[in-house]
Amino acid sequence: MTSPILSGCAIALVTVLFMEAVAYGVHRYVMHGIGWPLHRSHHVPRTGLFEANDLYGLLFAGMSLVLILGSSWREMAYWIGIGMALYGLLYALLHDGLVHRRIPFIRAPRRGYLLRLIKAHHIHHAVKTRKGAVSFGFLYAPPVETLARRVRKLPQN
Ligand SMILES: [Zn+2]
Ligand SMILES: [Zn+2]
Repeated sequence: MTSPILSGCAIALVTVLFMEAVAYGVHRYVMHGIGWPLHRSHHVPRTGLFEANDLYGLLFAGMSLVLILGSSWREMAYWIGIGMALYGLLYALLHDGLVHRRIPFIRAPRRGYLLRLIKAHHIHHAVKTRKGAVSFGFLYAPPVETLARRVRKLPQN
């Protein structure tokens, strides 16, 4: 019999990966769709410490808390909640902290995957409108050349 903690950690890890797919889908089809009124605040310069778009993060944090607090560590829901919380932490550190410089003591990388992540997300932010954006992932980014090609293919308006 495998230890419940070990299988719990595996569930949490799979949840982290799955959450990137969820976040991609939510970003592309909800935030750049019906949820644009909130997400728009993330595509224009921020005026204060927070932006309306932060509510999306709070919503996911709330769901993760409900799962963790509402179940025991022997249940699957608990570890899904842990995975969601881990994803949220990575999202906050990489997307908000590193890419958008909201955590000032994180140093900008000069090479490697993290630099690619930053460049890819800046390509997403090159489009200021709801439609026409590319690069919706937060922790995974395709090579920058691929994204740049996709942007060039978009109809210019
Ligand atoms: Zn966006
Ligand atoms: Zn962003």
